[in-house]
Amino acid sequence: MLEIKDLHVNVFGKEILKGLNLKVPPGEVHAIMGPNGAGKSTTSYTLAGRAGYEVTKGEIDFFGEDVTGLAPEERAARGIFLAFQYPLEIPGVSTMNFLKTAMNSQAKIRGEKELNAAEFLRAVRAAAKELNISEDMLKRPLNVGFSGGEKKRNETLQMALLKPKLAILDEMDSGLDIDALKLVAEGVNKLRSPDRSFLVITHYQRLLDYIVPDVIHILAGGKIVMSGDKSLAVQLEQNGYDAVIAKAA
Ligand code: ADP
Ligand code: MG
Ligand code: MG
Repeated sequence: MLEIKDLHVNVFGKEILKGLNLKVPPGEVHAIMGPNGAGKSTTSYTLAGRAGYEVTKGEIDFFGEDVTGLAPEERAARGIFLAFQYPLEIPGVSTMNFLKTAMNSQAKIRGEKELNAAEFLRAVRAAAKELNISEDMLKRPLNVGFSGGEKKRNETLQMALLKPKLAILDEMDSGLDIDALKLVAEGVNKLRSPDRSFLVITHYQRLLDYIVPDVIHILAGGKIVMSGDKSLAVQLEQNGYDAVIAKAA
């Protein structure tokens, strides 16, 4: 499904990713862990196609197609979804309208029929109910005045409606207390399915107690230096990144 081959990425002229390789099969949850500044967010932004993240070598294949040169909206329409570490606040746009615009612009790129108002309302209400999100929140301006937990549940709602094939969650746990974290993780777990993969990016092991990954990768120095099962997170928690990475080298 996702195959990243020898990816080198420059940010503002500085090489941050230095030969990253990664394969994620359909339906699997892969975690990327790594110290601060390792290049985790650079990896997620590069996958989403954000401007300023220049691929100098290597490629990103998605369902066999090289998407390295595609615009962000083209990638999103193909099913790549990035939940931001710091969700944007958009004062003039209600959450509801934002969701509708996002769904319809993706449908348009895919050459599918756009949803009419009634169809959209039905879809958004069903998804919000499933995720225990109030209709009141849907009417408020996007993310404005939302708590950290509400912002992240809102991203889970976007995911439920956009139905991505690959969801990238970049430090979804940052700024959440344990109850909010459990709620968000529960929402994410409801969206796990055999044809949807997740890349869960986190600095801490805690999130992986709630979203249990199939594979854990350690990113350091701009590449994946180690991969293993979920016991790797426990090793990291006990011994720290430096010791685990030194052992791998
Ligand atoms: P992580 O998410 O693992 O903490 P990042 O991908 O955010 O790491 O950052 C990797 C490196 O790239 C860091 O050294 C950071 O300072 C640098 N970097 C990332 N984004 C920018 C940017 N917009 N401008 C300058 N340097 C950046
Ligand atoms: Mg960071
Ligand atoms: Mg980061």
